[in-house]
Amino acid sequence: MRRVQDARVERRNVLVRVDFNVPIEKGKITDDFRIRAALPTIDFLRKKGARVILISHLGRPGGKSDRSLSLKPVKERLEKLLKRKVFFADDCVGEKAAEAVGRLKCGDVLLLENLRFHEGEKKNAARFVESLASLGDVFVNDAFGVSHRKHASVYGVAKRLKAYAGLLVQKEVRNLSLDRPRRPFVALVGGAKVEDKLGVLKRLVKKADAVLVGGAMMFTFLKASGVEVGKSLVDEGSIDEAKRLLRSKKVVLPIDVVLDSRDVVDVDSIPRQRKGLDVGPMTVQIFSSMLAQAGTVFWNGPMGMVEKSPFNKGTVAVARAIASSGCRSVVGGGDTVAAIPELRDEFDHVSSGGGAALEFVEGRKLPGLKVLE
Ligand code: ADP
Ligand code: MG
Repeated sequence: MRRVQDARVERRNVLVRVDFNVPIEKGKITDDFRIRAALPTIDFLRKKGARVILISHLGRPGGKSDRSLSLKPVKERLEKLLKRKVFFADDCVGEKAAEAVGRLKCGDVLLLENLRFHEGEKKNAARFVESLASLGDVFVNDAFGVSHRKHASVYGVAKRLKAYAGLLVQKEVRNLSLDRPRRPFVALVGGAKVEDKLGVLKRLVKKADAVLVGGAMMFTFLKASGVEVGKSLVDEGSIDEAKRLLRSKKVVLPIDVVLDSRDVVDVDSIPRQRKGLDVGPMTVQIFSSMLAQAGTVFWNGPMGMVEKSPFNKGTVAVARAIASSGCRSVVGGGDTVAAIPELRDEFDHVSSGGGAALEFVEGRKLPGLKVLE
């Protein structure tokens, strides 16, 4: 991969794709993790004397301008984090963008408005790619979270300009490669989207020494092993694949669950009318002791319905176990750390990418990274 450290950026217009897709409620940014993650590349470029032009998407405006999805609040936060002025343009292409770029001095930072106000972004439309590319001399991808998308700002522009990987993208690749992990390598997988995660599970069963399964996902596996799970969430379409994965003997399933009634039962005693919403205390003990002894841990997906107390208990407990273990810990997935922000700093690497991180760990080539080779 070509790296930003090897690019000639001094006195040049450097177009940087960042992932500023942060949660905003009533105009307020509730979590600026992704903005912070982009700071090293921005600082690096500024100090090298580049004119830094940041482009990003926010939410799903559907190809039309939508004031509630403006990147303006991000500009404000970015100014606070960088402790310097950040310029802003109301459009990411066209005259407004070109004028704003024209006013930049070396070391200045400009943020352009939401890319997805234009239909061409998601469609990777040739004209939109051209308009974006015309703003920069060099392109840097630092938006790991969208690198699995063949969008104009990720893929099209990278093919059109000399393109490099930003510092965040490099860090993600280094950490998520999970090459030569310190053993034992324990994977912990949960969440609800079994189908989306089968690829990752397949890969982890090959690479890891043990794969602990929690979250709603556990019920698909339990059913695959012949256990009745009542009204718990099961992905029927994934049962055959779950059976195959179980044959590896590496998958470790919970032995007890917390029901929607808040009762705790063994996994083979879930009443017909009940559903499991969290892993039980005995399971937490087993998982925690395995995590404590691990050399490397990869974790994706909550152990239970984290949004609703007390069903977040299992997730918090395993997160603490990972944090206090001496292992190297790599965490990925959108909802995985959202529920436990206070523990985030305890992990060695928290991926800024949800779907992209999963595809990467699965071993798939991400189009946005492939063009940087
Ligand atoms: P991630 O975004 O971290 O990859 P997913 O999107 O796959 O994770 O899954 C997260 C969701 O799974 C959460 O909204 C959580 O409430 C839900 N979930 C976890 N365990 C259960 C369960 N036992 N029953 C129902 N939903 C669950
Ligand atoms: Mg999710």
